[in-house]
Amino acid sequence: MYDLIIIGGGPAGLTAGLYASRARLNVLMLERLAPGGQVLNTDWVENYPGFPEGISGFELVDRMKAQSEKFGLQIANEEALDLELAGATKTVKTNKGEHEAKTVILACGATWKKLGVEGEALLAGKGVSYCATCDGPFYRDQDVAVIGGGDTAVEEAIFLTRFAKKIYLVHRRDQLRATKLLQERVMAEEKITLLWDTIPVRIAGRNGVEGIELRHVKTGEITRKDVQGVFIFVGTIPNTDVAKNLIKLDANGFVLTNDDMETSVSGIFAAGDIRSKRFRQIATAVGEGAAAAFSVEKYLESLEGP
Ligand SMILES: Cc1cc2nc3c(=O)[nH]c(=O)nc-3n(C[C@H](O)[C@H](O)[C@H](O)COP(=O)(O)OP(=O)(O)OC[C@H]3O[C@@H](n4cnc5c(N)ncnc54)[C@H](O)[C@@H]3O)c2cc1C
Repeated sequence: MYDLIIIGGGPAGLTAGLYASRARLNVLMLERLAPGGQVLNTDWVENYPGFPEGISGFELVDRMKAQSEKFGLQIANEEALDLELAGATKTVKTNKGEHEAKTVILACGATWKKLGVEGEALLAGKGVSYCATCDGPFYRDQDVAVIGGGDTAVEEAIFLTRFAKKIYLVHRRDQLRATKLLQERVMAEEKITLLWDTIPVRIAGRNGVEGIELRHVKTGEITRKDVQGVFIFVGTIPNTDVAKNLIKLDANGFVLTNDDMETSVSGIFAAGDIRSKRFRQIATAVGEGAAAAFSVEKYLESLEGP
């Protein structure tokens, strides 16, 4: 019986693992791929404190992993498939077996929806990005395309005006889904050109993005814009399969918690991008991982009684 099972080995899970192991809890982390999460897809991180020159995504999470393991965190390469409750005991069923614990932290993150067009996978991290806050500063005085029409796409397009010379906001409909206020702001931005009724069909380039081919959905006309970056904001999917029938989720499927990272089920906590929240960054994920570990400690103390 573990004190804690952490599902997911991204920044949130690794930080929870560090705090809980250092507090001498008996902790198992389950990670279906390699520990590191989305940061493994991040070439260079410039906004994580402590690294004034920036740090490669791989090195940053490798250091987080080493620090957690130093304090005794056990990491198993297993995918959690199901979570069951029997009294206060949580049983996590995986692709390799099952494990019991007194508490669980869900730190499974979220997956950015892909467009699925030619060139997207090849150029991911080489001009194709799913995070303007992260990658925007790399596109100073360059031309970029932003794909999407919701709040995130519009907010990120506006954010990119700080760096990029010209921004094409590519939207498949003839009006934006974003809130009125954001619509007014985006229309007023001189650097942003809206391309209505348009979808991307190919991202061109070999070692970096060189352009984007677009199709007008009403006329079928194909055009090309020479851009050096393509930012894709067509939604995120929270990785909640393991517990979605057990805990309360918001309308978009993200896990609802309070400020102490407690979910609707006693003894189950959540941290990082899987949570229902506004900001999804490494710094926010690690803060929540630490908070979740503290809450686990408090919960375990309450099980022991006075
Ligand atoms: C391309 C890109 C660039 C980014 N750049 C930056 C940046 O420069 N700065 C910044 O602050 N943020 C950046 N971000 C955002 C940042 O990476 C995320 O906010 C952060 O990684 C979230 O951490 P997390 O631990 O919550 O989730 P994740 O990083 O998503 O990790 C979740 C982990 O859980 C695992 N998992 C999921 N389900 C299961 C299961 N059932 N069983 C076992 N394991 C499971 C996954 O394999 C994954 O490893 C970037 C994101 C992307 C996509």
